[in-house]
Amino acid sequence: MAGGPHFKLLLVGDGCVGKTTFCKRHLTGEFETRYNATIGAEIHFLLFQTNLGPVQFEVWDTAGQDKFSAVREGYFAGGECCIVMFDLTNRSTYNHSALWHQEVTRYCGNIPSVLCGNKVDLPAREVKPKHIDYHKKKKMSYYDISAKSNFNMEKPFLALARVLANDNNLQFIATPALAPPEAFVDFNLIRQYEFELATYAKMAVETEIRDGDDEVF
Ligand code: GDP
Ligand code: MG
Repeated sequence: MAGGPHFKLLLVGDGCVGKTTFCKRHLTGEFETRYNATIGAEIHFLLFQTNLGPVQFEVWDTAGQDKFSAVREGYFAGGECCIVMFDLTNRSTYNHSALWHQEVTRYCGNIPSVLCGNKVDLPAREVKPKHIDYHKKKKMSYYDISAKSNFNMEKPFLALARVLANDNNLQFIATPALAPPEAFVDFNLIRQYEFELATYAKMAVETEIRDGDDEVF
């Protein structure tokens, strides 16, 4: 295993949102993936080079048991950061993502967490930027991603690395190689989504400032 700090990263979310696809896009050798039969999890070792040195994430992927009750305590044990994933084309997976995050918090406390909406390549988006809001109160970052088109794949890792290193200037110099894309995002749509996400993020900050003012008066 490479030097530098490494962190246990819990990848959680409903079945079929794309967690395993997300892991397998990273072209790491067999020896860098381990199956833990007792817990029923696959662990992917992903190495990122940053301007502050190397950082490794041990990404834990549930081997099929994507229900809260089915995921064993051992899966969560020692979790240091987390990606909560949902499917942008399936609203109930977004509703459940808050419950997944609660479950992580129950076992691991308030660890750095990122929310990701996957499959942004698909035109049938059900969960619109304005619907995505619970992460704001939890101070989590949010990203639209597409595992199949390699879109924003490094973003959740970068957000987590910055929080874990307590340094917002951390940059990636090299990221794990990815398999060639199997789908493509529509960049006109992406630009529109990014504009909407930024607009709603700004509105949330303004509401927070107003709420703060209310307390003063
Ligand atoms: P998991 O149960 O969360 O591990 O989900 P999987 O990785 O097994 O993926 C479930 C299904 O979604 C599979 O058919 C994948 O090919 C598909 N899928 C995963 N990611 C994407 C994506 O970014 N875009 C599209 N269009 N399909 C995806
Ligand atoms: Mg899976």
